[in-house]
Amino acid sequence: MDIAANLERINVEIQTALLKAKNPKEKVMLVPVTKNRSISEINKVIAAGYQVLGENRVQELQEKFPQVPTNIEWHLIGHLQRNKVKYITDKVRLIHSLDSYKLALEINRRMQPQNRPMNCLIQVNVAMEKNKHGLEMQEVIPFLEEVSLLPFLKIKGLMTIAPQVDDPEEVRPIFRELAKLFASLKKKDLPNVEMDFLSMGMTNDFSVAVEEGANIVRIGSAIFGPR
Ligand SMILES: *Cc1c(COP(=O)(O)O)cnc(C)c1O
Repeated sequence: MDIAANLERINVEIQTALLKAKNPKEKVMLVPVTKNRSISEINKVIAAGYQVLGENRVQELQEKFPQVPTNIEWHLIGHLQRNKVKYITDKVRLIHSLDSYKLALEINRRMQPQNRPMNCLIQVNVAMEKNKHGLEMQEVIPFLEEVSLLPFLKIKGLMTIAPQVDDPEEVRPIFRELAKLFASLKKKDLPNVEMDFLSMGMTNDFSVAVEEGANIVRIGSAIFGPR
């Protein structure tokens, strides 16, 4: 696996997708996803100039955290259990997977001693898949109204994981729907809510996601090879 070459190719594909986007974002953040990857693989990504890494398991994040340079910015992208929040509040810059009010309360409680808010994206289960976490579309606004009152948590946008399909065109409507919600929430200008990030797109569907307005893509296999 030539990790540096893979990253270059992915960036070209992101730029190509941006050219096709209706409302192109200024830039797209590529977050390499490190689950099941070794430190030596991760170091290749860091050597290629990447400072942001995405991990979806708390335990792996805890193990990897002390083994990478301190300027690395970790994003938690996987489901977060309430009893694990305490392990990551000092390590993570952005949580992509806020999916319940109880989790929001725990994050708020654990950030209070640090006297700063945790940046969070709301995970939305656009396709309403039974086996996936995330709010349903119509739950997002009432949820936002509640969590925007928590002082130690800051909503920075939305995230989704699209259904697994063979042809990424099949999930284009999912991305389009979330991008529409994102744009309407941005317009609403809710207090304590900054709609900066729309995190959608993985190895199999990131080009379509970027075309539909994603400005964060989370990519593992296309960088590191199959898991
Ligand atoms: C594993 C994972 C990814 C990356 O998946 P690939 O298909 O390997 O690119 C992205 N987002 C989440 C939440 C993940 O768990």
